[in-house]
Parts: sequence; structure tokens; C-alpha cells
Amino acid sequence: MTGDNLNYCPKHKTCPLFQGEMLASKKAQEIYMRIYCTAGEKGRNRCKRFMLVKAGYSSPDDLMPNDERTLEQIIKEL
Ligand code: SF4
Repeated sequence: MTGDNLNYCPKHKTCPLFQGEMLASKKAQEIYMRIYCTAGEKGRNRCKRFMLVKAGYSSPDDLMPNDERTLEQIIKEL
């Protein structure tokens, strides 16, 4: 098991959410991972962290995949 499953987000090895550094609850982490990180292109393309990186920015460590702001708002507040 290499963790290089094609359904995995290409950022998973360095992403604090995927690496378990953002959420105290393992259960919550697993839910986020199922919705965003291991759900292929469709999953990661709705993750605000991934959207930000794709747009050429670094994601703040504490940005949640489901941050309620638009990408434009997040970028403005970086
Ligand atoms: S989908 Fe989002 S939260 Fe998951 S590994 Fe990728 S950047 Fe991190």
C-alpha cells in the first residue's frame, strides 16, 4: 500500500488535514477525507485548500476544505 491511489488528492502527503494535524477527532478527519481527499478529481475540486493551490497560492495551515468563503474572498484575505 503506497498511498498513491489515483483517487487520492495529489497534495495528500503534505496536507495537514490528510496527515491528521488539523482535527482532534479521527472520526471527523475520516469524513472529510472521504468527501474530499480520496474521492478523485470531483472530491478534491470542491476542497478550498486544493482550489487555492490549483490557483497558484499556498493554503494557510488552518483552512478547512469546506470554508464557507468564496475562493476570491479567501485569496483577498491571505
Ligand atoms: S483534498 Fe484538500 S484536504 Fe484533502 S488532501 Fe487535498 S488539499 Fe488536503
